[in-house]
Amino acid sequence: MSRSENLYHLQRIDSQLDGHKRRLQEIKAILEDDRKVMQAKAEVDSTQELFQEAQKALRSAKANVQDQRAKIDESEARLYGGTIRNPKELEDIQQEVAALKRYLDIVEERQLESMLAVDEAQENLDAAQGQLEKALAESESRNADLLEEKASIDASVVKLDLERQDQVTNIDAGELQLYESLRAKRGGIAIAKVQDRNCTACGTGLASAIYQQARSPSKITQCNTCQRILYAE
Ligand SMILES: [Zn+2]
Repeated sequence: MSRSENLYHLQRIDSQLDGHKRRLQEIKAILEDDRKVMQAKAEVDSTQELFQEAQKALRSAKANVQDQRAKIDESEARLYGGTIRNPKELEDIQQEVAALKRYLDIVEERQLESMLAVDEAQENLDAAQGQLEKALAESESRNADLLEEKASIDASVVKLDLERQDQVTNIDAGELQLYESLRAKRGGIAIAKVQDRNCTACGTGLASAIYQQARSPSKITQCNTCQRILYAE
């Protein structure tokens, strides 16, 4: 293998490792960010609160109806109890009962409205809980897929690390240093393939002398423009 070919193989291993690292970071971010589930939980909390408020309002409306009925019973007991005989007083009580009954209609109407409000709040809560279950199930299955992908990438990283250690032994220390510094400066790509006498990384056409040198198995040649190490098959 030529010197540039050894570096080219190292580059291929490193590029795969770079890709794996990028994907592992993406997976980590997706696993950590469960926004849909969080939103669904918040929706359940708020609909739960509204449901409880509606129940409380219904309890109070029921109590008002009961109070009102008790007041009517009490007045009617006085009216029909036989202890009051004064017609004026009896007439007053009759009017009082009529007024109490009119107000009973109002509080009964409010009780009915409260019951409907509870039903609606219950439906909203059920729907929110359904959405949360759905979001949790989706998240679980997506996370399972991602964890499977992560496991396979982790295994590939271990394999590539071993290949890399092996490949590095074929490369001269000075060249390795040049390679690493180019990788740091040139977006991770230190080696450029030569195709049709062009540097495939930056597109520059190579002068004849450079091209010949790049084809030599014993020499390391850099592109005049992007400085990457040229690899001509
Ligand atoms: Zn170039």
